[in-house]
Amino acid sequence: DVMREERMRYLTDERRIKAVTVCFTDLEGRLHMLDYDKKFLLSSADNLTFDGSSVRGFSVQAESDLRLAIDWSAFYWLPADIFGPGKVLVFGYVLNQDGTPYEADMRGRLHQYTQELYQREGLTCNIATEIEGFLFQGRNAEQRFRETGEFVMVSTGGYYHSLPGDPLRQFIDMAAEAQRAMGFENEKDHPEVAPSQFEMNYSYTEATIAADQILLYKLICRQVAGKLDMTASFLPKPITGVNGNGMHTNISLSRQGVNLFYDANGPERLSELAWSFIDRILNSAQDLCLILNSSVNAYRRLDPHFEAPNQIKASPTDRGSMIRIPIGNARSARIEVRSIAPDANPYLAIYALLRTGLEGPLPTTDVRSSTATLPDNIYDAIANFRQSAFMAQIMGESVHARFADLKTTVADRCPRRLGTLIKRAEVQFH
Ligand code: GLU
Ligand code: MG
Ligand code: MG
Repeated sequence: DVMREERMRYLTDERRIKAVTVCFTDLEGRLHMLDYDKKFLLSSADNLTFDGSSVRGFSVQAESDLRLAIDWSAFYWLPADIFGPGKVLVFGYVLNQDGTPYEADMRGRLHQYTQELYQREGLTCNIATEIEGFLFQGRNAEQRFRETGEFVMVSTGGYYHSLPGDPLRQFIDMAAEAQRAMGFENEKDHPEVAPSQFEMNYSYTEATIAADQILLYKLICRQVAGKLDMTASFLPKPITGVNGNGMHTNISLSRQGVNLFYDANGPERLSELAWSFIDRILNSAQDLCLILNSSVNAYRRLDPHFEAPNQIKASPTDRGSMIRIPIGNARSARIEVRSIAPDANPYLAIYALLRTGLEGPLPTTDVRSSTATLPDNIYDAIANFRQSAFMAQIMGESVHARFADLKTTVADRCPRRLGTLIKRAEVQFH
């Protein structure tokens, strides 16, 4: 492994680095970070272990000691002005004692699947996400919400409306700078439609890297917000009556640099492959919903009055559609899956979308313009998910059941009826 040798030599030589943060996520997509002393890491890089029994979704006694294998290709410097000096971060794979991939490690699953697609068919999965978030006053906004039931916005402007002195603009500038420093290819940043809401867009990339970047994006935003005495929230619907936070996910497949979703003569200039990908996703929309919208609060967001889709259909224009087809050319042709919230497990969401789009059951009726809608509460989504043979097949029966159980536990903490106000129990930032 050339990368491994190179990076280890780099770590040895780079005297500013004293410790290395190794990251993985639990089944719900929460980032877990282990800080290893550099010398220790260099001498035991192939023998890292941790206690899996305290990680959500991993908790089975027999699995309590798990291994962590470093993915040396996913190595990042954290910008010193925001995170402090000498900080580096690397992602890892979770393995069983015997070195086989651990079944609930969705990063490993996604990576394994995309590797197989590449080796077998020469396919590359390209993903670009558009992650929206809110900014609230104070670094303890979550706690304040629990006490007062309120978030205090930092800005009153809407889409494209903010002056250089605006706190939202200051946040965006600082966060964008940090993203560039970490290798994101930024494209465009702007205040979003709701007051105090932001969105920063960056280039598409290969699926596993894109999922890592989702976690890094949220990490950067939280850290930058904290520096400015604000809180960045990716809660899907923190405030009723205004837009919520989406994580629209743009997908295309390519082979040797050729975009396979493009066809100049196809409907909406998409290829047959793209249309079968769309049909399969729409056909399994009910089964997938819990994976893409996995919190109680996510179901408040799915309301087309606020540009968030609950309609199981595809459209070039209608923002209430689960899948939108942006105008594309030979390079940029893609589909935009809109019904994903930013608090979903990014590895699981992207993995499930790819597998469904490529291998999910094909519909027997016209699903592209149906009038069906997604569930409006998490309990219905859990019930659909539990019944899904396809989700059990792609996740493995045990992980499938564990995910449904975890989500039931979370849902049971919140009142069954959503009502009109955001409930305190729904507010969990991650
Ligand atoms: N905030 C909207 C959502 O919840 C999306 C707005 C847009 O189209 O960018 O998905
Ligand atoms: Mg947006
Ligand atoms: Mg969008």
